[in-house]
Amino acid sequence: MSESQEQAKRAEEETDTPDLQGESDDSSDEGEACGDSEMDFLRNLFSRTLGLSPGEKVLDELSLEGVARYMQSGKCKSIICMVGAGISTSAGIPDFRSPGTGLYANLQKYNLPYPEAIFQIDYFKKHPEPFFALARELYPGQFKPTVCHYFIRMLKDKGLLRRCYSQNIDTLERVAGLQGEDLVEAHGTFHTSHCVSFFCRKEYTMEWMKEKIFSEDIPKCEACNNLVKPDIVFFGENLPARFFSAMKQDFPSCDLLIIMGTSLQVQPFASLVSRVPNSCPRLLINLEKTGQSDFASSLLGFGGGMDFDSDKAYRDVAQLSTCDDGCLALADLLGWKAELEELVKREHALIDSRDAKKKGEKSSQSSGATEKAKGAESEAGKSDKTE
Ligand SMILES: [Zn+2]
Repeated sequence: MSESQEQAKRAEEETDTPDLQGESDDSSDEGEACGDSEMDFLRNLFSRTLGLSPGEKVLDELSLEGVARYMQSGKCKSIICMVGAGISTSAGIPDFRSPGTGLYANLQKYNLPYPEAIFQIDYFKKHPEPFFALARELYPGQFKPTVCHYFIRMLKDKGLLRRCYSQNIDTLERVAGLQGEDLVEAHGTFHTSHCVSFFCRKEYTMEWMKEKIFSEDIPKCEACNNLVKPDIVFFGENLPARFFSAMKQDFPSCDLLIIMGTSLQVQPFASLVSRVPNSCPRLLINLEKTGQSDFASSLLGFGGGMDFDSDKAYRDVAQLSTCDDGCLALADLLGWKAELEELVKREHALIDSRDAKKKGEKSSQSSGATEKAKGAESEAGKSDKTE
């Protein structure tokens, strides 16, 4: 996830065809489009760093009301959402990075050399147990998407969502009804898993992984007996190639960037805010202001930070609230509030009834299924050395 890794990844992509063909209107001359957007990015960066040509002021007022009027003007057709842990906290998912209240604070029981080790690829390959114990505790599917997740789903239903870039691995965007093509899961996802062996890379489904995790088996590849790991990005691993290819296609034509529940501290994700055109309004819905560039980083050329308050501010709006409250307030201004609340109620009821049905099925079954699965494994000649 370092700068050099990003560059390496980009270089790799020059030769690799991005897997997004057919998703974009301009995929026919993709190479050229990528080059152009790269040039646009550099042009934007230089003009901002040098204080040249500030973008056009698009919002009539730097407020949530101003954003809502712009969204209703007919000029705002392509919205990108960038989201982080803050959009899932109201679903009960702990924030990884908040000291004290976050996940790291609860890791003592795993006897890690240091807390981050649990997400370090080298440590995981030697000691996978703590990660899978934690995964059992935090397993996606035991949580319901939030008002904020359903607000993003509404943007999609209304044809306004270009894509949602998420740092979260909880898959709640998918549960809320976004499809794979609507999403860039920048830090990976529990949705699929792969064998860690470079030579094998066999893919496994979420259902397969879930059964392993809850049976307290360490997941091993059925083809080569190596570890199988959910496709979440560990420290020491590259971001998915899709992050870089989608970014090049999406950001140059973005009409509105909505950033929610992220402290914008993890690169390269945080730098996405500077990839939209100069005139593109940016709305931050978060408990505190974030993403403002400090003096040091602007000297280093990392321009394009958020500017909410200076006399040069012309496009950035901060709505300081929880993500759910911020989305409800925006939905209210757009006249969508009743529809949003109805959607949340309906979807949550659906999840509850599905859960109840599953529980019913489970209790009516004997433990035969697990016994059978274990039998099949030993038939396949697997030797489980997990002690
Ligand atoms: Zn394998």
